[in-house]
Amino acid sequence: NCVRLQRFANIMVIPKRTMLKHSINHIMDKKVLDRYLRLPNACNKVMATYIWIDGSGINMRNKDRILTCVPYSAEAAPSWAFDGSSCGMASTDNSDTQLKPISVCKDPFRMEPHVLVLCEVYEGGSGKPAATNHRNFCNKLCEMHRADEPWFGLEQEYTMLDVDGWGLGWPKGGGFPAVKYQYSYCGVGAKYIAGRDISEAHARCCLYAGLDFEGTNAEVMFGCWEWQIGTSVGMKGPDDMWMSRFLMSRVAEDYGVDITYHPKPMGMLHPGVGMHHNFSTKRMRSDGGYQFIEECIKRLEANHMKHMKNYGNDEATNRMRLSGKFETAPFDKFSWGIANRKASIRLQRNIKKKGKGFMEDRRPAGDCDPYLVCGLLMETCLGGASG
Ligand code: ADP
Ligand code: MN
Ligand code: MN
Ligand code: MN
Ligand code: MN
Repeated sequence: NCVRLQRFANIMVIPKRTMLKHSINHIMDKKVLDRYLRLPNACNKVMATYIWIDGSGINMRNKDRILTCVPYSAEAAPSWAFDGSSCGMASTDNSDTQLKPISVCKDPFRMEPHVLVLCEVYEGGSGKPAATNHRNFCNKLCEMHRADEPWFGLEQEYTMLDVDGWGLGWPKGGGFPAVKYQYSYCGVGAKYIAGRDISEAHARCCLYAGLDFEGTNAEVMFGCWEWQIGTSVGMKGPDDMWMSRFLMSRVAEDYGVDITYHPKPMGMLHPGVGMHHNFSTKRMRSDGGYQFIEECIKRLEANHMKHMKNYGNDEATNRMRLSGKFETAPFDKFSWGIANRKASIRLQRNIKKKGKGFMEDRRPAGDCDPYLVCGLLMETCLGGASG
């Protein structure tokens, strides 16, 4: 009959890739799953989810293995390997790629005794850090400047999308939300806010996992939110940011929602998405620290373009975001100011009076790698391998 012929015909042509219209995840019956989740964990096995950054430099991958005891530190978690060729990190004929555990936390999805294990990736053959492994660079600088006690506070902005690619809660068919953006920032009410459940669930997961999770707020654009990691000592800042990014994707998967860190997801008429990096050292936080902050700002100015090249997953899209509009400074021009949200670097209002404090680098894109940004901040302000 007609339908069968049609099906047969479809096999002959290469099917077109179409955007998903729905996600199946949140439609699946959780009561059925619950029956299996209630089976006793009779042999006291630990399920460990190994997590890593893939070859895109922004997406994450994970796979599970069963352990016989809880690894209470990264050193206690066994190293592992994966197929790098399926993650854009290796060729098929040289695919075995190494995972080195760097931090372990409680798994908020399965709960104790199960764990999440964040890993660094090393090439199988050479043993060198993978192209998207910037933790190695950041960690070296943290070690080098241990005595300076670098602290980081990271503000991750993000946009919730339907799996069809359009903004969560945005009018279907290409329309824009009627509400003015100034009402959505820290807003409340159905007309102003979309997706609070995801932000809330994510917050609870981060707290359960023991991350340096600091807070959340709704952002200027409808369906856009922020969470903060900090104020963290050294590597705990960028490490916990990556772990919290995994938790966000995992929570949103349960809701059938796509999370994007794209710096300008809705085009030039709409606000952008960044990850402000707040940074200080012991000297900046001590009396007279303001002078050192000004010195660091001069060094940052001299290295502006070097930073800009590494402040987003894609230079071109961060350039779109840093248009000089929507509380940004232009991409090519360094500036700084007190309480100025149109500057590259902003200082707190009372910093001169206090004579000490920290700086906010507003340039990084939402999809930046905090390992690269934190590493560069230390390298430029405190000195690199040779300085
Ligand atoms: P805003 O949105 O106004 O920039 P947030 O509250 O979102 O402010 O972020 C402020 C950030 O500054 C927090 O992440 C916090 O951890 C960080 N911070 C505060 N004090 C310091 C400090 N001394 N060193 C580094 N970061 C700091
Ligand atoms: Mn296999
Ligand atoms: Mn903020
Ligand atoms: Mn913000
Ligand atoms: Mn900020």
